[in-house]
Amino acid sequence: MEQIDAVVIGAGVVGLAVGRALALAGYEVMVLESENAIGTGTSSRNSEVIHAGIYYPAGSLKARLCVQGKGLLYAYCAERGVAHQRLGKLIVATRPEQVQALDSIVAKAAANGVHDLQKITAAQAKALEPALACEAALLSPSTGVVDSHGLMLSLQGDMENAGGLLALVSPVQHIGLQHGTATHPIRVTTQDGTELACKVLVNAAGLNAVALARGMDGLDHNLLPHAHYAKGNYFTLAGKAPFSRLIYPVPEAAGLGVHLTLDLGGQAKFGPDVQWVDDPSDLQVDPRRGDAFYAEVRKYWPDLADGALQAGYAGMRPKINAPDEVAADFMIQGPSEHGVPGLVNLLGIESPGLTSSLAIAEEVCARLA
Ligand SMILES: Cc1cc2nc3c(=O)[nH]c(=O)nc-3n(C[C@H](O)[C@H](O)[C@H](O)COP(=O)(O)OP(=O)(O)OC[C@H]3O[C@@H](n4cnc5c(N)ncnc54)[C@H](O)[C@@H]3O)c2cc1C
Repeated sequence: MEQIDAVVIGAGVVGLAVGRALALAGYEVMVLESENAIGTGTSSRNSEVIHAGIYYPAGSLKARLCVQGKGLLYAYCAERGVAHQRLGKLIVATRPEQVQALDSIVAKAAANGVHDLQKITAAQAKALEPALACEAALLSPSTGVVDSHGLMLSLQGDMENAGGLLALVSPVQHIGLQHGTATHPIRVTTQDGTELACKVLVNAAGLNAVALARGMDGLDHNLLPHAHYAKGNYFTLAGKAPFSRLIYPVPEAAGLGVHLTLDLGGQAKFGPDVQWVDDPSDLQVDPRRGDAFYAEVRKYWPDLADGALQAGYAGMRPKINAPDEVAADFMIQGPSEHGVPGLVNLLGIESPGLTSSLAIAEEVCARLA
């Protein structure tokens, strides 16, 4: 059996960020990815937004790692030339009774250490975005967008420069926590029968992370959540959007509302909505869902023309709460949670996982220290 210091399962943005951080910290590391390329999972099916860290409950991992991750990500992108833009975002109250909700958003953001939100009037919002209809708005100047694939390529490059290895087409099939060697106690077996013994194992398998953790011999399964899946459908706009910032309605229960995001080329998309599903591979967008998008978008952009939206793509949220439960926080289980030295399970890493990726990697290293 081959021996290596550390194995990371999954080459999405989180697994690559963790692989990079471990390699830079001096571990011999190998990232195992089941597909034939990096970042083909949730990391390539999201909004590519660098979130400010506004909405998450104070003291949650999502709040702390998003705010920390945003700072790390802007600095990293600037240093490495990863394409990104600090476009800013407007959170819009479209009914008079929502105007007060903006104040609670400001308070929530401040509790998370986000102090740059500016409340503006309808006239000020219209001066910034003439096509917008609203009663009042919040301007979040630190929200932006990033080229997620460029980011992942850069993380992979850093990891490899620091001696880390990436193995594609290497689906992990079995993990025995006490089945390795005396010095490298964790045994990882891939589909082709390859066995690796390691001291450190980080499970960053995204939608598959809970199932992999449940299959680990020697882990207390009572600590593990159940996996649920919520699809997020996007509709794209034919033609150019008359907006230069991201536009979000005041958030609703399960998601952030049907919002408008822009890519680095200025192309607009709307979504993602929230559709709970049983099958995580169900990524088709049903064009009929577009009807609900028109109504939602016209609340803040009344001039959206009939027929302007086209079914786009969908991403899948790795949920660890059921539809009728309170939204769960990121679940990072390290040795102090489950008692297994060297093991970290990253569960429920939904949004803002892209923004938080570099901070999650630091958190993993801290929990292993
Ligand atoms: C609709 C949507 C919109 C989002 N928008 C944003 C946003 O704007 N901003 C933001 O910050 N976050 C956003 N997110 C969240 C963000 O995309 C995710 O948190 C992040 O991409 C998760 O990365 P990951 O590496 O954990 O998972 P993934 O990208 O899913 O990577 C997991 C990898 O593990 C591999 N794998 C699985 N099983 C195995 C196995 N057995 N062996 C080997 N490899 C395996 C998979 O093939 C995959 O490549 C959004 C998410 C969704 C669903």
